[in-house]
This record gives sequence, C-alpha cells and structure tokens, in this order.
Amino acid sequence: MKNNGGGNVKYLFGPVASRRLGLSLGVDLLGKKHCNLNCVYCELGKTEGVSLSNERGLFVKTHDVTAELEEFFKNGGKADVVTFSGAGEPTLALNLKEVIEDAKKISPCKVAVLTNGVLLHMPEVRDALSGADIVVPSFDAATKSTFLKVNRPAAGVDFDLMLQGLKDFCAGYKGSIFLEILLVEGINDSLSELFEMRRFINSLENIEKIQLNTVARAGAEEYARPVDAEAAKRACLILGPKAEAVSGYSGARIEAQEEELKSIIYESARLRPVSAEEVSTMLNINRNEAQELLWELEYDGLVDKTVREGKEFFLGKHA
Ligand code: SF4
Repeated sequence: MKNNGGGNVKYLFGPVASRRLGLSLGVDLLGKKHCNLNCVYCELGKTEGVSLSNERGLFVKTHDVTAELEEFFKNGGKADVVTFSGAGEPTLALNLKEVIEDAKKISPCKVAVLTNGVLLHMPEVRDALSGADIVVPSFDAATKSTFLKVNRPAAGVDFDLMLQGLKDFCAGYKGSIFLEILLVEGINDSLSELFEMRRFINSLENIEKIQLNTVARAGAEEYARPVDAEAAKRACLILGPKAEAVSGYSGARIEAQEEELKSIIYESARLRPVSAEEVSTMLNINRNEAQELLWELEYDGLVDKTVREGKEFFLGKHA
C-alpha cells in the first residue's frame, strides 16, 4: 500500500479525512484481525477462530512500525493525528505503549487511540494509553444483555469489569476522551438502553464529547442496520449536550421539536413515573419547560399525574 508520505507501507494506512479527528494517519499493530469482540457491525467482518481472543500479544515488531512512521514524516507526509486503530483492538498489542511513545517522538502530530474499552480495567493498558492525546473508547451497551447481542465478546471478557475499567480510565486520564456509541437498529437503540447509557455516562468523569455513530457500510452481519436520523436525534437528546451525531447526520447536536420531546418523555414515563426535575435533567431543558411538557401530556391524556410527598410524578398510560 502507498500513502502520501510516498512509501510502500504495511502498518500505516491513510491519511484519511476523519470528521472527528481531522486528517488521520492510521497505525495498525495487529497485522491481521485480532479482537476481543465480534461486533455485529464490524467493517472488518466477523472475528472468528483464534482471532477472537482476550489474550494480549505481540503481533508486529515495534521497529517495523516506527520505521514506516519515520519514513512517512521524513518524506513530507502530512497528518493532523496518528491514530491507532487498524485490524482489531489496539490495546491487545503489548507494544502499544512503546509505539505511542515513538510516534510522539517521530511525528509532530497528536496521537489518538480507538479502543473498544474491554481492557481498560488493566492498569498496564491505562498506563499505555496515558501517552496518547486523545482516546476514543467505544460504549455500545449499558446492559449486559445488549452487550452480548451487539458486541459478542470473546471468552473471558467480563462486562462489569469492563464498565469499571472505563470509569477508572476516565477518572485518571489527562487527555481528551471522546466516547463513541455505535447504534444498530433494533439492537442497542431502545429508549431503555439509551437511558441506561445516559445513567452510566453520568458517572464518568472527563468525557469531552459523546459521538454517536451508526452502521455506515456492510459489516459482519447483514442484519446490522443503521438507525435513521430520527433515532439519532432522540439518542442525542437523551444522551445530553455532549452528544453529537457524527455519521450520516448533521454533524452537530440536532434540536428536537416539542413533539419529539413529548414523545421521549412519554416513552420514559411509560417505563416509570417521572418528575419535572428528572425530565429537566434527562433532556437538558429547564424545569419550567419540562413541567409544561408534562402538563401537556397529561392534558393529551397520555400520562396520569400522582402526588407523592407533595411532589408531582407522571406515569405514562399504555395504549
Ligand atoms: S471492537 Fe472494533 S475491531 Fe473489534 S469487532 Fe468490534 S468493531 Fe471490529
């Protein structure tokens, strides 16, 4: 493969214009697919056989990768960011830390790592990532049942440990964290899953952005379909002001109309009674607006009001 640094390369790809990172020069530390997940939407296809493993290893030689990076920049190659992603999960590579350190010395660029987050519970992985400027952890599910459906982990991957690892990483990391959520129609886009995501994300420190993506091209499973713009809008609203749709939509947080807000509140009130304060927090709207929307839903006959300890709660009626 050739790149704009002019050489034939094996471990570098691009640079490609990335909406979230700028001009991104990709680095692959895996050689061929190695991953601890087998996501239904994976553009690299299914993770099968020995490729699906939670074991870390040395897949390519550090020197071979750094030699390509040196060549690229020596020949005038241009990029905004050197991004570790490649043919699977970069944190499985035992030499991630040293290649990040070398990339910082060789290039004038920022270094980013895209990770599925499975190994963030390991102190040595968090230490390796501490050398990067930007980390983009994936977070496609807040419940184990959805995680199993969308990410289909390798044996030994522990969902609760993974969530704790993400929390610990966010608390300790000094660079920028862009959390990435990839929504797949009918699999991880339900309101209850999105509310669970929101609840968990609220417990994370230092999240700079939440980037919502969806299936862009054929992946591991044909049934993995993209969500539509309406679903992306709803997800942005539920996930809060840091959420932005980066794939196929406007690229900025999309403001929902009143009817859409009412529909989200109604769906959430069908799951459990909600107060104006909760709606205000959930949708990042002011309390008075939340109260008015709840009253409108009550007027429309869609929710019932109850008063508990002097406070109003609204419960959605089932059709
Ligand atoms: S984590 Fe990334 S590389 Fe691994 S299966 Fe999922 S999408 Fe593919």
